[in-house]
Amino acid sequence: MTNLDNIVSLCKRRGFIFNGSEVYGGMAGTWDFGPLGVSLKRKIMQEWWHYWVEKRPDIYGVDAAIIMNPKTWEASGHTATFSDPLIECKECHQRFRADHLDESLSEKVTTEEITEADIKCPNCGKSNWGDVKQFNMMFATHVGATTDDKSLAYLRPETAQGIFTNYKNVIDSIYPDLPFGLAQQGKAFRNEISPRDFIFRTREFEQMEIEYFVTPDTWKKHFKELLKDCHDFLENVIGLPREMIHDEEVAPEDRAHYSDRTIDIEFDYPIGREELMGIAYRTDFDLQNIQRASSKNMEYRDKNTGQSFIPHVIEPSFGVERLMMAVLTAAYTEDEIDGNKRVLLKLPEHLAPYRFCVSPLLKNKPELVEKAKEVYDILKAKYHNVTWDDSGNIGKRYRKQDEIGTPKCVVIDFDTLNNNTVTVRDRDTTEQERIEITEL
Ligand code: ATP
Repeated sequence: MTNLDNIVSLCKRRGFIFNGSEVYGGMAGTWDFGPLGVSLKRKIMQEWWHYWVEKRPDIYGVDAAIIMNPKTWEASGHTATFSDPLIECKECHQRFRADHLDESLSEKVTTEEITEADIKCPNCGKSNWGDVKQFNMMFATHVGATTDDKSLAYLRPETAQGIFTNYKNVIDSIYPDLPFGLAQQGKAFRNEISPRDFIFRTREFEQMEIEYFVTPDTWKKHFKELLKDCHDFLENVIGLPREMIHDEEVAPEDRAHYSDRTIDIEFDYPIGREELMGIAYRTDFDLQNIQRASSKNMEYRDKNTGQSFIPHVIEPSFGVERLMMAVLTAAYTEDEIDGNKRVLLKLPEHLAPYRFCVSPLLKNKPELVEKAKEVYDILKAKYHNVTWDDSGNIGKRYRKQDEIGTPKCVVIDFDTLNNNTVTVRDRDTTEQERIEITEL
């Protein structure tokens, strides 16, 4: 396994991911996606949408507004409880997320525990701490021309509530049979105390969430099935190695306030084994709260039995950036070719920003360039994600394409002009074969 710095540096060097607002000195906890990064990210998101929404008969998509009525966050419990423990070092005045100071500490960590464990400040090494305080992570904003309490609103800290608030609209408009799911992809914002580890923990990120509505007595069965589907998606669609993925049953005291069972699916990142995504049994917590707060009936009426009840919910929740970081971790490879160190991204073909790179062997031979353009046009029309490269020498081009994960490089040389064959070079084996242009 490589270290994180190698991945960060490749991502910057090759146009995948940059520091947010870099020209102005950056903006903590934000990252920007360059041409290759956005391509990889979108492919991951498209695969997800295809797998969970388009291919299934029982899950439908929604796309809700990011700024929601603040009552949403009162009802969901976020205003009261969506907080992390914050602690300040009284010597150097740095602030830290208290439960991250040491592995032995839980999210419910107290000031006494920190003192007893004699935890040292990671910045100045002293152990003179202030009290642990709860810090609400929602980003506040004001809507409209006034900035008072009445105009206060929040950027959503999770996409889930945009689904719950549309549950009634959906059952009243498209009448889905239970069990059914609603899926959403989109931005979420959390004012993390210490964003860290590249795109693993950021203040602005993207989530892909499903709320799966079931009859209360069947939740265990659906939880099991959805967990299996999550693995199927991660391993067989995204192509993450099975041995790098681990299920972690979350202890009751560590579960979110809404959950009666949570399994974190963790991944072996360069920073260690950490949460990639979670699947939670949210009971009827959210719909009950919405019913209470809105006075609207959230019951589902079963057409066959005539019974009315509030469905229970299983939620598979994916973070796009954490999934992308897992894909990059699994793909990052260093090997040696003819005694030279090589870096490559062994991305699955369907996720690689480019499937093919087309280039003329020599840039200064117009007949090769012209023929290469012809081949490029054919492939581009067929596969879209095809790139052109005539910079430097052929060795340098291969290096670059290896680093951005392009599975095949197609080279047009003098033989091509005679017999319409091209060289196709494989990223992983570096082997070359000659094939007819029509076979590409
Ligand atoms: P953590 O314990 O790591 O803070 P969480 O349990 O609070 O995460 P959830 O609220 O369950 O996370 O959010 C669902 C998913 O959203 C996570 O599994 C993760 O993939 C993603 N996610 C959450 N917070 C962040 C963040 N700050 N940056 C990037 N992705 C995030």
